[in-house]
Amino acid sequence: MNKVSEANKISTKLHEILEIKHLTDSTFIIRMERNNLKFKAGQHINVGPANSIHTREYSIYSGENDDYLEILVKEVTDGFISPVLKKQKPGNMLVVEEPVGYFSLPSQIDPNEQLLFIATGTGISPFHSFIKSYPVLNYRILHGIRNTTEKYESDFYAPSRYVACTSRQKSQDSYFGRVTNYLEENPIEGKVRCYLCGNSSMIHDVYDLLETQGIPSEKIHAEVYF
Ligand SMILES: Cc1cc2nc3c(=O)[nH]c(=O)nc-3n(C[C@H](O)[C@H](O)[C@H](O)COP(=O)(O)OP(=O)(O)OC[C@H]3O[C@@H](n4cnc5c(N)ncnc54)[C@H](O)[C@@H]3O)c2cc1C
Repeated sequence: MNKVSEANKISTKLHEILEIKHLTDSTFIIRMERNNLKFKAGQHINVGPANSIHTREYSIYSGENDDYLEILVKEVTDGFISPVLKKQKPGNMLVVEEPVGYFSLPSQIDPNEQLLFIATGTGISPFHSFIKSYPVLNYRILHGIRNTTEKYESDFYAPSRYVACTSRQKSQDSYFGRVTNYLEENPIEGKVRCYLCGNSSMIHDVYDLLETQGIPSEKIHAEVYF
């Protein structure tokens, strides 16, 4: 193997599925063996069925110190890989490539720094990993979803830190509207580091809004899913 192909080689391993937890008709958590895989909270892995050469990116949902690896997946009904992942059973193997990505917390965690996590849908996954890995974080989460069934495992977050923004359902325990509406009504005050994760149109709109509210671009981190 020459030097270039060696450098480009991605380590791929098979991981046995331990459990699949269905949160809604379309969204599920796959728990699999960790096999000593090292990662930084916020990174993603390419995952695919063992008998296929195709994989897709999924943020790691579990924490850095958990002895298992988890991903939170939403089935895209006409998609190629996510429907296959939904049909998996414990005992099946998945192909998992090495963790990649730079969507991560500062290397020195400051428990006093205000962090704002803004997600749409399964974009909450890296934030779950941040908080599970570093429970001291001074965070708030805005979770953009269509209705309250999509508040994936929201009990994990302190109620005072988690705001569901439901665009299609009025509910007592959510803000009715998109995350952008919430931010317009509740502008950011003070020095806040912001992390955005989910669909590109939300990220685009929120990025512009945060900049107009005075957040410098070096304090806005983004991970685009599609
Ligand atoms: C860095 C990164 C991290 C990601 N992390 C996650 C994650 O943690 N959980 C997760 O569920 N997905 C995540 N995704 C999306 C995931 O990689 C796949 O795109 C998704 O599962 C669809 O794959 P598929 O093969 O079923 O569909 P494909 O056949 O590849 O594509 C079908 C279409 O669906 C669109 N699409 C992708 N995701 C969605 C969605 N959620 N809703 C509607 N349309 C969509 C694609 O843009 C494409 O047009 C991530 C993507 C990236 C780039």
